[in-house]
Amino acid sequence: MRSPDLVADVAGVLVSEEQIRARVAELGAQISADYAGRELTLVSVLKGSLPFMADLMRAITIPVSIDLMEVSSYGGTATESSGLVRILKDLSSSIDGRDVMIVEDIIDTGLTLNYLIRYLRGKNPRSLHICTLLDKPARRLVDIPIDYLGFTIPDQFVIGYGLDYGEHYRNLPFIGVLKPEVYAAP
Ligand code: 5GP
Repeated sequence: MRSPDLVADVAGVLVSEEQIRARVAELGAQISADYAGRELTLVSVLKGSLPFMADLMRAITIPVSIDLMEVSSYGGTATESSGLVRILKDLSSSIDGRDVMIVEDIIDTGLTLNYLIRYLRGKNPRSLHICTLLDKPARRLVDIPIDYLGFTIPDQFVIGYGLDYGEHYRNLPFIGVLKPEVYAAP
């Protein structure tokens, strides 16, 4: 992969910093209202969900604890998920009897989340809900019940606000689309 250029490589902005900020505030308010009087465990899926998790937790006004998991899908390519999931980092604390929300960056085929939902259900939480910043429904292979959704996006590979291409572009503050020649580059 050639050296990334965080300005020149971006074909366009799909969701701006301002749109993200406004929607995260709405999601935080909605979650706070829905879980009023309860405590919530937010489980973020590294690394792509990191900025969303950091912003969302501060938009929630009820008590939360956080935990982090890291998974990798293997057997796929840089832009295609395979559905074979390996847990690189597991939960630090028990979620037995807790209200749990998975905080995801993006749902594409749904295979990764489908695996995670089944895995976390097996740990006996009181409730388990899904919050994702982005939904790309065009390529869905398994049905995923999304409880809180930031934005529905078209079938394009996006980067920024935590999302990477070859581990780069995660630090862009918006959701953007890469120029096709970036993928074509050897
Ligand atoms: P799924 O298993 O739903 O197909 O894929 C989920 C994971 O694939 C996401 O958590 C993310 O890491 C990656 N992914 C899916 N679509 C995109 C995309 O458009 N851009 C980036 N950077 N990653 C994506």
